Amino acid sequence: MSETVHPSSLQPPPRPAGQSTGRPPRPGLDDPPVGTAGRGVVRDDDLMSPVPGRHLRDAVATARDLTKVYGSGEAAVHALAGVDIEFARGEFTAIMGPSGSGKSTLMHCMAALDTPTSGQVVVDGVDVSTLNDKALTRLRRDRIGFVFQSFNLVPTLSAAENITLPQDIAGRKVDKEWYETVVAILGLGPRLSHRPNELSGGQQQRVASARALLGRPAIVFADEPTGNLDSKSSSEVLGFLRRSVDEFGQSVVMVTHEPSAAAYADRVVFMADGAFVGEMRHPTAESVLDRMKTMGDL
Ligand code: ADP
Ligand code: MG
Repeated sequence: MSETVHPSSLQPPPRPAGQSTGRPPRPGLDDPPVGTAGRGVVRDDDLMSPVPGRHLRDAVATARDLTKVYGSGEAAVHALAGVDIEFARGEFTAIMGPSGSGKSTLMHCMAALDTPTSGQVVVDGVDVSTLNDKALTRLRRDRIGFVFQSFNLVPTLSAAENITLPQDIAGRKVDKEWYETVVAILGLGPRLSHRPNELSGGQQQRVASARALLGRPAIVFADEPTGNLDSKSSSEVLGFLRRSVDEFGQSVVMVTHEPSAAAYADRVVFMADGAFVGEMRHPTAESVLDRMKTMGDL
């Protein structure tokens, strides 16, 4: 059977650096910042303080001096060595860095899938470290979506059942209209009754993306979501993540090692040795590649 992909799920080529996104203004993000009246044009840089990644006006997720140590003594690995970072609401952020630089550990700690050794994580205004197990489960279920490199679908369930699984477990009614919107955008209609082993990698990742978005989380974390996909499937998933930000105001943080994937983001942050080492706005594949070269070949 030939695959049907809704044409609008495909992303036009990422825009050149500095060009407007053309999207409608986002309340709180596109308003002039307080205290800048009379300074003329507001640049993205105005959102930044001298401390990298701090003081975005409306942060949906924040890490403060986050550390994570695996093991102890001689064998201790400092996966996160004091990360300070904020992710803006309604923005698509890419995280890049060499293998072992702590990207997955950061995502897991911020998504409450792992516990940091020290420091603070705030998601959608909630200090994660103050939550008991029950509240953590609720936070993960209600406010966080996660897309894994390896899809992590339940093999015995159909695509449709996988998409609604978190809502079903929560005993919550699925928003039918939103479900149909997400399924249509992802071109999953003809595949809904199929089990994961009857789907291509790209289709499985689209199912996983639909699952992550269905609960309208405050933030979606995606850890190398295109790492196992061919370039066509990659652009479908990346195009969907981009649309979810532009059209539905979703906040997305995605780890990737591909400059062409990072170019879909509004902002790229770079990590090395468990720390935040730089960032770039309006990335293009070329500008990201250039930055990676100057940073010693991430
Ligand atoms: P990245 O995603 O950037 O490749 P990770 O966050 O997976 O990096 O890993 C950061 C560091 O922490 C690496 O040195 C890795 O070997 C180590 N690490 C990650 N998970 C564990 C674990 N469960 N036990 C011990 N060390 C780990
Ligand atoms: Mg990783």
